[in-house]
Amino acid sequence: MSANNRKKGQKRYLLSEEDIPRSWYNIQAEMPVKPAPLLNPATKQPLKPDDLFPIFAEELCRQELNQTDVWIEIPEDVRDCYKFYRSTPLVRAYGLEEALGTPAKIYFKNESVSPMGSHKLNSAIPQAYYCKKEGVKNVTTETGAGQWGASLAYAARMFGLEAAVYQVKISYEQKPYRKSIMQTFGAQVTPSPSMSTRAGKDILTASPNHQGSLGTAISEAIELATTTPNCKYTLGSVLSHVSLHQTVIGLEAEKQMAMAGDYPDIVIACFGGGSNFGGLAFPFMRHNFSGERNTRFIAAEPESCPKLTRGVFTYDFGDEAGYTPLLPMYTLGHNFRPANIHAGGLRYHGAGVIVSQLLKDGWMEAVDIPQLESFEAGVLFAKAEGIIPAPESCHAIAATIREALKCKETGEEKTILFNLSGHGLIDMASYDKFLSGDLQNYTISDEEISENISNSNRK
Ligand SMILES: *Cc1c(COP(=O)(O)O)cnc(C)c1O
Repeated sequence: MSANNRKKGQKRYLLSEEDIPRSWYNIQAEMPVKPAPLLNPATKQPLKPDDLFPIFAEELCRQELNQTDVWIEIPEDVRDCYKFYRSTPLVRAYGLEEALGTPAKIYFKNESVSPMGSHKLNSAIPQAYYCKKEGVKNVTTETGAGQWGASLAYAARMFGLEAAVYQVKISYEQKPYRKSIMQTFGAQVTPSPSMSTRAGKDILTASPNHQGSLGTAISEAIELATTTPNCKYTLGSVLSHVSLHQTVIGLEAEKQMAMAGDYPDIVIACFGGGSNFGGLAFPFMRHNFSGERNTRFIAAEPESCPKLTRGVFTYDFGDEAGYTPLLPMYTLGHNFRPANIHAGGLRYHGAGVIVSQLLKDGWMEAVDIPQLESFEAGVLFAKAEGIIPAPESCHAIAATIREALKCKETGEEKTILFNLSGHGLIDMASYDKFLSGDLQNYTISDEEISENISNSNRK
């Protein structure tokens, strides 16, 4: 960093406690075309909130299907927990701008400062809160890289609930410290697929060396929730109520951008199931709906798991075993097995229904990023800004760099805002591999994609 930029430093914008949002933004109520209904797989009838009551806390089921209330109040207890770490900083990334030599202004919203190191806690807290309020005693869930499991384990602890977490087997082995974090908060952690559920046994019988995926872990957790009294399932991504909770990110960022005297031309986030993307993007997108603004929204997904850029829009299950409702979404097929990339949180076959509809209708774009480009971007960002980004967040950084370099070519001074969804301090084994040249790209052919989609349809 030059002396000049060292003086500018990393300009950070923070909100007072008063200005932490009091409501979440429910984009479903304002979408020009609303998402198609979720379907009951047995009857093919549209789902009502009470169809979901056996699985999730009731208030979360109502939020999931709420297409009428634009603002949903954040309970005071939840807002008090948010105050532990919110607002998160909005940062002007002078160092990254200089490293790229771009005229673009780059800002990032730093969700890595949450106690668990990622945005996931923003939804874990309200999910644990509503479970507690409704008399639930145990919560169960799946986790990939472990960020969601760690956040849920901590949130469960805050509200006095027991937590049982199924962790994708490959991540359980690649990222042992997240398991230790979950266990530190008292959660029980099982690698998935496991022999502890019927779904897990079926998967292991068919494929004894199955490495696990979010799809297998979701099946196991739902089975546990539906077969255990007083136990509810929780999910860290994909569903609409999860991105609803995450809109606290974008609502804060909107106020912080105003403090900086700016407004984004481009908003970028990495994409697993869509919660950090929706959380940052939806509050800004409402000004595109009203015609006041013309911001571009870009979701950055891994090249090896390209549901937005190369998947099909169809009804599909959210999990491997087919326990979830049918969701109208972009998907690679529910039994898609993503390559073992290190961005564990992005290894999911489908996209949330809201984002899928928005992409279909042209309100947003998607790009896919090869694994090596994502780590190159992460290392460049770390050197310029002093923060090691999560492998997932590296995809957003790579997409940001692509846009900033386009500005360099054209001389345009665009304002780019991206979400730093988490830090990578517990992912250093992945960085080690990258630095020693042991990582590779994984591409996937059109034939593999269409074959997988037609196999999934037959199931
Ligand atoms: C889980 C996770 C993601 C992906 O999930 P989304 O729901 O798409 O946001 C991205 N980044 C980090 C750090 C995560 O933990």
